[in-house]
Amino acid sequence: MSFYWAEADDGGGTVPVALTERRDAFHRCMRGTWSATPRCIALQGEVGRQVGCSIYPLRSSACRDLHEGSPQCHRARQCWALPPLAMAAGSQAA
Ligand code: SF4
Repeated sequence: MSFYWAEADDGGGTVPVALTERRDAFHRCMRGTWSATPRCIALQGEVGRQVGCSIYPLRSSACRDLHEGSPQCHRARQCWALPPLAMAAGSQAA
C-alpha cells in the first residue's frame, strides 16, 4: 500500500517520514509493508492476537481507506495465514 509522498511530514502531511520508504518519485509506503510477510513498522503487538497502530491519528490515506473485511484486509491476513475476519470466530479488528 503506497501513498502520495506529501502525506509524510516532510511534505506537509502527518505520517512520520522516518517510518516510510520511497516507492517511486511520487509515492511512499510504510517501512516493512513490501516484504514477503509484510509488517508495518508502526504496527505494535502480536499478529494474530492483538495489534494496534502506533501512529493511528497520523496514518496515511491508504491506511484510512482500508476497511476491515475488505479484499485488501483479506490479502493482508492471508500473508500471516489468518482467516478472513468474517470467518474468524470471535474476531476483532486487527
Ligand atoms: S494503519 Fe498503522 S500499522 Fe497499519 S499499515 Fe497503516 S500505519 Fe501501519
